[in-house]
Amino acid sequence: MPVNSQPEATLAVSKQRASKSSAAALTTPYKRIVLKISGEALQGDLRFGIDPRILDDLARQIKEIRELGVQVTVVVGGGNIFRGMQTSSVTGMERATADYMGMLATAINGIALQDALERMHVHTRVQSAIEIAKVAEPYIRRRAIRHLEKGRVVIFVGGIGSPFFTTDTTAALRAMEIGADVVLKATNVDGVYSDDPAINHKAKRFTTISFLDVLKKGLKVMDATAVSLCMSGQVPIIVFNIRKAGNIKRVVCGEPVGTQVINRKGRAPHSVSGQ
Ligand code: UDP
Repeated sequence: MPVNSQPEATLAVSKQRASKSSAAALTTPYKRIVLKISGEALQGDLRFGIDPRILDDLARQIKEIRELGVQVTVVVGGGNIFRGMQTSSVTGMERATADYMGMLATAINGIALQDALERMHVHTRVQSAIEIAKVAEPYIRRRAIRHLEKGRVVIFVGGIGSPFFTTDTTAALRAMEIGADVVLKATNVDGVYSDDPAINHKAKRFTTISFLDVLKKGLKVMDATAVSLCMSGQVPIIVFNIRKAGNIKRVVCGEPVGTQVINRKGRAPHSVSGQ
């Protein structure tokens, strides 16, 4: 049976009841979130593509937070399969063409995530910013919101549908459009550092930092367009390590994991153990 046409009315009602009672038991500061998963995160230690164990673990964690009553959207990247700018500069391919290929790569990841979630009986919809009607709905803002209200996880693919942008910007834009409370940026590091922690061992992690400081210092959080969008829309970003078990749930439950990028002056960086 095609995933997008499952009979789900009865299941949805009982699931909503279940999720309401779990939500009452566990407090989460967020009603609606955008989770940004890069292609690199799905790739894990592989040289290319999707690590099936990481995919299943991610799906399990998403199921867990969904069951807390949080409305979950996921923006998936495509860097594990194809990066427009990189390919264009190495091969001479026209940048816009390469970027469209990159957008299609995000669709591959999104469909894989949908499959992993549906295997765990989580209802999902994939919405694409570029038309691929056989495998995904078109992105329609109000429809996405309706899916969320019905308890479905919505996976946004195809970026914003235009070349020269990134899926980070997509996450910021979708967050503003659907009125999300936060953008959760899953990465392979513990948060935002004063310098590259892989090179500079004295680099410190910020627990909180302002959007403006991120832009001024050129810190690698998300690209500048994404940060600026979140700043103007007052949507906080939390950067955290997806490789640490249970981190998505911790972040969603408001635990101080990773780095919060917010609209006020950030504190000076200080040493903390990785979370
Ligand atoms: N891309 C694009 N427009 C968008 C989003 C993505 O052209 O709105 C292309 C771009 O070529 C990019 C690729 O899709 O390199 C994969 O997206 P991204 O690099 O953001 O993925 P991630 O780094 O998160 O895996």
